[in-house]
Amino acid sequence: MIKLLKNLINAESTPKKGELDAAKTISDFFKKAEIDVNLDSWDQNRANILAHIKSNAKKPALLFLCHLDVVEPGQAQWKFPPFQATEQNGKIYGRGAVDMKAGTAAAAHAIVQIKKSNIPLEGDIFFLATAGEESDSCGIKRFMENHKNIPNLAVVIVPEPTDFEVVTAHGGAFWLEVTTTGKAAHGSTPHLGINAISSAKMILDELENFKSKYLTKGCSLSVNTITGGNTINIVPDSCTIGIDIRTTIDQSHNQIIDNLQQLLNKIKKQNPDFNAEIKVTRDVPALQTDNQSQAVKQFLSTVGAGEPIAVSYCTDGAFVTSLKAPVIIFGPGNPQLCHQTDEYVEIKDCEKAVEHYKNIIMKFLT
Ligand SMILES: [Zn+2]
Repeated sequence: MIKLLKNLINAESTPKKGELDAAKTISDFFKKAEIDVNLDSWDQNRANILAHIKSNAKKPALLFLCHLDVVEPGQAQWKFPPFQATEQNGKIYGRGAVDMKAGTAAAAHAIVQIKKSNIPLEGDIFFLATAGEESDSCGIKRFMENHKNIPNLAVVIVPEPTDFEVVTAHGGAFWLEVTTTGKAAHGSTPHLGINAISSAKMILDELENFKSKYLTKGCSLSVNTITGGNTINIVPDSCTIGIDIRTTIDQSHNQIIDNLQQLLNKIKKQNPDFNAEIKVTRDVPALQTDNQSQAVKQFLSTVGAGEPIAVSYCTDGAFVTSLKAPVIIFGPGNPQLCHQTDEYVEIKDCEKAVEHYKNIIMKFLT
């Protein structure tokens, strides 16, 4: 288990390097146990990996849904090298240790142990680890397009770090870039140009009210980036603002685009020189699993957890709700360590996770 986790951390699956090496690491691991794997690779270094354990299919299947990618280590100095997994005092340090290579390694281990035990299964197991979960969700979108024949599922388990709490709901993320365009001119003759930063300010002024006017209760909106202009003596011809909107289950993302477009149209009507375009850079829906379902109740009793909770971060789980199975996020590690410098996971939690996942497989598939 720990060896696989370390190999996965060392595979450095950042946006720059891609997920292919991490996918190969898991593929080799499953192949050694004679488990069918399908490694789907594109754009040189992007990859999804799917493993499938067949059964007599009397019962609905289980899907373990993991992600291969990690975020960059960031600017801060690490005490431990981010891509050379280090074991110290019962902890494994490295980028992705907690988010989410521990859960991924634990799920893979549980599956291999079940396979080796020769216990007859009455439902199939699917293990999917995707690319791009931290950015544009390209991996899960690609999988859902290409695999329309996933059989009936009992539960989708997302082994993200929850400290073994059962998570059944999270918000959505909707990231927008609005770019205003103008006309460059010499800084001494601004009346000959169209100032894109001034145009962006018109949007910013209107956005103050946008949230209360158009977003449902519980959503948030924050303008978190702004870039525009090249030099102090040229009227800027372009300015981009980045808006991070977090949504609840009742908020339609399309409705936000419609309302924002109407707002831009309104500004344009009053200012004919105004030009702006919206680009969606991230679109993850909110997730709300029915906590009253039999599967959720069975899951809670299997892992000995209390009431399910909701979290603020989002997951690929939101993209598989069309499979009509309850999506449950459950895994080892402290979620507050996600994306942090010197991210780590406790070895005892990794081992505990393997036991939990084996119990879940036994409960649902035997
Ligand atoms: Zn994650």
